[in-house]
Amino acid sequence: MPTRADYDAAVAELRGQLAALPLGAPIRLGKKTSNLFRTRSGPSQRLDVSAFRGVLSVGDGVADVLGMTTYEALVDATLPSGQMPLVVPQLKTITLGGAVTGLGIESSSFRNGTPHESVLEMDILTGDGQVLTCSRTHNADLFHGFPNSYGTLGYALRLRIELEPTSPYVHLEHVRCGSVGDAVEVMRRHCTPGTGPRTADFVDGTWFSPTEVYVTLGRWADRAPLLSDYTGMAVYYRSVQERREDWLTVRDYLWRWDTDWFWCSRAFGVQNPAVRRWIPRRYLRSDIWWKLVAFEQKHRWKTRYDRRKGRPEREEVVQDIEVPIDNLPAFMDVFARELEIEPVWFCPLRQRCAEDVWELYRMDPDTLYVNVGFWSSVTLEPGEDPSTHNRIIETLVDVLGGRKSLYSTSYYEPNHFWRLYNGPTYDVLKKTYDPDSRLLDLYAKCVQRR
Ligand SMILES: Cc1cc2nc3c(=O)[nH]c(=O)nc-3n(C[C@H](O)[C@H](O)[C@H](O)COP(=O)(O)OP(=O)(O)OC[C@H]3O[C@@H](n4cnc5c(N)ncnc54)[C@H](O)[C@@H]3O)c2cc1C
Repeated sequence: MPTRADYDAAVAELRGQLAALPLGAPIRLGKKTSNLFRTRSGPSQRLDVSAFRGVLSVGDGVADVLGMTTYEALVDATLPSGQMPLVVPQLKTITLGGAVTGLGIESSSFRNGTPHESVLEMDILTGDGQVLTCSRTHNADLFHGFPNSYGTLGYALRLRIELEPTSPYVHLEHVRCGSVGDAVEVMRRHCTPGTGPRTADFVDGTWFSPTEVYVTLGRWADRAPLLSDYTGMAVYYRSVQERREDWLTVRDYLWRWDTDWFWCSRAFGVQNPAVRRWIPRRYLRSDIWWKLVAFEQKHRWKTRYDRRKGRPEREEVVQDIEVPIDNLPAFMDVFARELEIEPVWFCPLRQRCAEDVWELYRMDPDTLYVNVGFWSSVTLEPGEDPSTHNRIIETLVDVLGGRKSLYSTSYYEPNHFWRLYNGPTYDVLKKTYDPDSRLLDLYAKCVQRR
């Protein structure tokens, strides 16, 4: 475990690094892992932030954590005391700082919101080289403007976060629904206070087709009559279709989607038992699949092979969006007609605390939203624009009163973008905390992919 003195020394060293970098080329984080899907281009200078990994302390209901700590390491540090962060994003290498600045979501989000909502205080290295401690009462403009800023105002170096108690196991109930409308009713029933006892601690869903949708209800359990293991031969998302109920250890529950990167490992043939049996368990992880995708994004071997074979061009459609739950059936209706993608992930979400205003990603605290995640590619007609389907999604989400996450490709015109993500407030924050634009701006980063 790093100590507070280690942290203070690392902060001083990092400020020195930033001061020594010449103005001009924008600054980026020098990090080994990433869960950003948009490729980046253009010159940049990197800050070595490797010293900001680790957990400073775990107390009763609270932890002090360095900004580049992965959730895998964070969960390993908190579970021995019977506690976990309030929201643990599904991919092991997502970092706490990345999830807070880039938003994150999981099956506890219907009661705990997003990871930034359980931050009590954080230290941020701003673009102008200061290290500011911010909270709901101190530098509150930065605190409330940081989520969805994607590292364009500054970098979170230390975060004090809330923890919640765990039980040893999670009992899963996979409720089969014959339509999205039915799934909406099940999610609404289990996620809305005042509509009967809230009987689930975790809620998410898997859409396989318009007539085959599952809502998975997770409940803490002190005992498990049997335990499943989806870190080897068995594939979790298939179990959703095959089993009515299931039990997992809390750790295996938190990482149930990581082994096969939801279902995306399918593209590498590793869900075929004849192939899978030869792959050591330690390689069944989302960051390994990431490396394969990154290799293809860089070298385009498969794309070139497909072209030589005369196969149609494909458009990558990798997005997470959210719409008010009432509009989920309408969204999925168009989705099913326009995109040949399955499965799709549903995750209900509600802002945790009505008093907070998260400036760059405002939500209505009275509305239950559903996050819809789809990560695949679709065939293009000859001559069709390679952003066609992503643009359909952007328009649809807008019409249905939703918004999308910015970790992947976006095509918004500037005015549209700034209307969605509160341009006027962002402008003030940017001028205050990064007056020399040492960090890229949100539009340049998320749409222009600089
Ligand atoms: C296929 C796919 C599926 C996904 N599914 C989910 C999901 O189900 N649930 C979920 O919660 N998220 C999901 N994500 C999104 C992911 O949570 C975000 O992309 C998150 O920002 C990644 O965090 P990271 O730590 O890997 O950061 P990186 O990928 O390294 O960086 C992401 C951005 O955050 C900035 N950043 C990173 N660390 C910090 C810091 N300490 N301070 C300030 N800025 C920082 C970087 O500059 C960059 O702009 C998914 C992403 C992909 C590609």
